[in-house]
Amino acid sequence: MSGGKAYSFVDHKYDVVVVGAGGAGLRATLGMAEQGLRTACVTKVFPTRSHTVAAQGGIAASLQNMTPDHWHWHLYDTVKGSDWLGDVDAMEYLAHEAPKAVYELEHYGVPFSRTEDGRIYQRPFGGHMQNFGDGPPVQRTCAAADRTGHAILHTLYGQSLKNNAEFFIEYFALDLIMSEDGVCQGVIAWNLDDGTIHRFSAKMVVLATGGYGRAYFSATSAHTCTGDGGGMVARAGLPLQDMEFVQFHPTGIYGAGCLITEGARGEGGYLVNSEGERFMERYAPSAKDLASRDVVSRCMTMEIREGRGVGKGKDHIFLHLDHLDPAILAERLPGISESAKIFAGVDVTKEPIPVLPTVHYNMGGIPTNYWGEVLNPTKEDPNAIQPGLMAVGEAGCASVHGANRLGSNSLIDLVVFGRAAAIKAGEVVDRKAPVPTPNEAWCDKVMDRFDKLRNADGGTPTAELRLNMQKAMQEDAAVFRTQETLESGCKRVSELWGELSDLKVSDRSMIWNSDLVETLELENLMANAITTVYSAEARKESRGAHAREDFSKRDDENWRQHTLSWVDEAGKVSLDYRPVVVDPQISMDEGGIDPQKILPKERVY
Ligand SMILES: Cc1cc2nc3c(=O)[nH]c(=O)nc-3n(C[C@H](O)[C@H](O)[C@H](O)COP(=O)(O)OP(=O)(O)OC[C@H]3O[C@@H](n4cnc5c(N)ncnc54)[C@H](O)[C@@H]3O)c2cc1C
Repeated sequence: MSGGKAYSFVDHKYDVVVVGAGGAGLRATLGMAEQGLRTACVTKVFPTRSHTVAAQGGIAASLQNMTPDHWHWHLYDTVKGSDWLGDVDAMEYLAHEAPKAVYELEHYGVPFSRTEDGRIYQRPFGGHMQNFGDGPPVQRTCAAADRTGHAILHTLYGQSLKNNAEFFIEYFALDLIMSEDGVCQGVIAWNLDDGTIHRFSAKMVVLATGGYGRAYFSATSAHTCTGDGGGMVARAGLPLQDMEFVQFHPTGIYGAGCLITEGARGEGGYLVNSEGERFMERYAPSAKDLASRDVVSRCMTMEIREGRGVGKGKDHIFLHLDHLDPAILAERLPGISESAKIFAGVDVTKEPIPVLPTVHYNMGGIPTNYWGEVLNPTKEDPNAIQPGLMAVGEAGCASVHGANRLGSNSLIDLVVFGRAAAIKAGEVVDRKAPVPTPNEAWCDKVMDRFDKLRNADGGTPTAELRLNMQKAMQEDAAVFRTQETLESGCKRVSELWGELSDLKVSDRSMIWNSDLVETLELENLMANAITTVYSAEARKESRGAHAREDFSKRDDENWRQHTLSWVDEAGKVSLDYRPVVVDPQISMDEGGIDPQKILPKERVY
């Protein structure tokens, strides 16, 4: 036997299989297991090493522990932050359920920082304001010092084990299994430790594989953030959504790319240019350094372009924390004080940190409704559901972040929608029904691809092709975009896609073959990268993180719609669009927001 048929499967049957053990995957796993669904969680890294562990600043919920707040204000800020591209039903669900989800985390055991009277500590964060954006800033971001993600992940992992969820750790999911009539039936995974191939048949698959920051050269995300879920979905012939919206965080450490949390500005830090000017006061008189991320990143880029960058190359900006009380820094920002020391050689109590906008978050992803159910939109039904498949967390696109995500709105997205997916699965998964029998022809196809890559013997090493892709994305799909850069990006990434057939993998073994893992990841990254540039080239407006110099205005009439993108085996991208959900679900009589409040208007901070 040769090709895909040479591999035998270890078969498993579950009600639900969750791929990914970050905040979203663990919250979904825990919720499923709590309801007695037989649940497996498959993850390529140890759960507590998922990128969520690096989340510093915190998690947004209108608890009102430190300033007045209201879930309507949180909803308004999220709508405005999304630049009116987010789906209102999903954003409403997020803002409304957030307090409940945070109290649940507290009761599960997350060690939040505390106020004097013992409540959960909350800090200000960019774009979060009181009074429907009129200000002043609200303290909405719940924090466990600057290690909030770390605290959440450890707690959720412990709780999942307590509820008898089964973990398959250091298993790399290769592809979904799809039936002949298009139902998702499970997932095939490679056990990196002993080389066996496992087939997980399930009534529901939940993709919680995180973002694809590593499609870019400089990113704050972990090297494991390679958009594997997006790659799997694309290979199953399903679309991705709003891929053109890539968030640059204003404060990545210059050179290293490591994140300095927005919480640093929340605690009073500010940015200065080479003239010592606090330039954000000029661009965003009311929110200043706490304007939303796309705005601050663009302002920094403009300062640098106009010759007011700092350092030898005048190519970055300074972030000052040295005016803050060292005791506060030690208590509230210990992690970033350490990062600044290690990666920039800076003592934050004495000197500014050199920073630069760095890729941080992917607003786009696998389209879902606010129950986490994956959509396979058609012309007749833009909200048609793909049976057997859910997606949550950064891999998904519900869409609550629209064109730009607010800081601390991702961690809350993970737990609110991880929880929602579990609630929905509890309703739709029939515990008594048999687990589907996997489509053998499909499984052979999956293993053929695997075998081909394992034996790839071309002339291009994976690392070289990856670097070329990362550079193309960094240069041509950056903070500012033009027709020229985007066309160049499409051309470059398409050419690089062609080079996938010339890859060279040197290690043929099945055990801890990191060469092959990185090659599988590269194919996934490439599916995300190519849909990103093509979607961006097509969108002739500026909205949120998608800032075009040649179309500098938002155009609601033509472009208040979600981009859908498909990519085939040959790297051909097709685009289509689906309407944005603009109406809230909760009526004003039931305490919902006045729809007039969230009508589109100009976005100023
Ligand atoms: C440095 C940093 C700081 C941040 N700070 C904040 C913050 O303070 N507040 C906030 O709201 N947001 C923050 N964010 C954003 C937020 O942390 C992320 O969006 C979020 O953690 C993503 O969680 P996730 O569960 O979707 O995925 P991840 O945490 O990235 O987990 C992905 C999981 O999928 C698994 N996986 C992936 N591919 C495969 C595969 N092929 N097979 C098997 N398993 C696979 C991995 O093993 C992992 O368990 C920050 C992000 C970064 C990078």
